[in-house]
Amino acid sequence: MASISALARSGPITLVSGCEVDKLNPCGHLLKLFPLPVTRLARKIEPMATIESYHAHIYYDAETIDRARTLCETARDKFGVDMGRMHEKPVGPHPCWSCQLAFGPELFAGVVPWLALNRDGLVVYLHPETGNVMADHTEHAMWMGAKMELDTSIF
Ligand code: ZN
Repeated sequence: MASISALARSGPITLVSGCEVDKLNPCGHLLKLFPLPVTRLARKIEPMATIESYHAHIYYDAETIDRARTLCETARDKFGVDMGRMHEKPVGPHPCWSCQLAFGPELFAGVVPWLALNRDGLVVYLHPETGNVMADHTEHAMWMGAKMELDTSIF
C-alpha cells in the first residue's frame, strides 16, 4: 500500500471512508490509509507541486517591533529570504502590523523550524502560494503562537 506522502506527490487523489476512530493514534493522526472496502468519497489531497512559494508574515506592535525587525533581518541574512517592509499599520488581510518573509519551497525545511524556535514570542502567520488566494490565506495557512482573524473580504 502506498504511503500518504507518496500518494500526495503523485497528483490529486481522493481519500475514502473506512478510517475509523480506532485507526487514529492518540494525536489523531491516521495510522493506515485506505482501509478496504472503499465505500464513499471523502476529501481531495492536493499535490505538493502546486506550492510555488511561501509567505511567513511576522506580526508585531509598537512594543515588539524591534524584536520583529531582528527576527526578520536574521532570517533574511541566514536563509536569503525576501524581507518586505516593516509595516506600522495593518495592511492587506492582516489584523496587525506585519513584515513579510517570502521564500521558495526549497527553503521551507530550514526557515519554518527556525522560526518555530526563534520567533521570540511573536505570532507567525505562514501560508503557501498556490494561486488560490482565498484558500492559501485560510484553509492552507499555518500559525505559530496564536491564530488570529484575517480580513478575507479583500480577496
Ligand atoms: Zn502573504
